[in-house]
Amino acid sequence: MKYFHELDSTAIHDKLILLDVDGTLLADGEVELSTESLTAINALKRKNEVTLCSNKKDHVRNRAVAEQADVGYVETNIRKPNVKILDFVVNEKDLDLLVIGDKYLTDDRFARRIGAEFIKVRRKEKKGFGIYPFFYFIDDLLARIFT
Ligand SMILES: [Mg+2]
Repeated sequence: MKYFHELDSTAIHDKLILLDVDGTLLADGEVELSTESLTAINALKRKNEVTLCSNKKDHVRNRAVAEQADVGYVETNIRKPNVKILDFVVNEKDLDLLVIGDKYLTDDRFARRIGAEFIKVRRKEKKGFGIYPFFYFIDDLLARIFT
């Protein structure tokens, strides 16, 4: 499985991309996008619209991440996989939806519920962070069984 910045963006076009933040663009809780993540977002922006969709409800921090990449942000306290998030998504061009994320239980299920394509990426983790949280274990296990 590839990290977000390793995705081949040439085949992705005319989508509204709902892009996960933690584990996808950044390790959990980080704020500053790496050059490689920014480059990958910019590549996607050439032929698509990109908006951040995070289950971490720190809107100030999420907006700061969105501003670094000059992309939109879906600001709501509703969490993936709840389809009501779509009420907060601006899709003026009525583009097909694509969800990119690292989690089966949130991102993949959300994509299926809203009829979107899904690309699962390899999770970015904090360097030197030795503990493998239990919910990641469960999520990875379910992903292996069902996808
Ligand atoms: Mg994530």
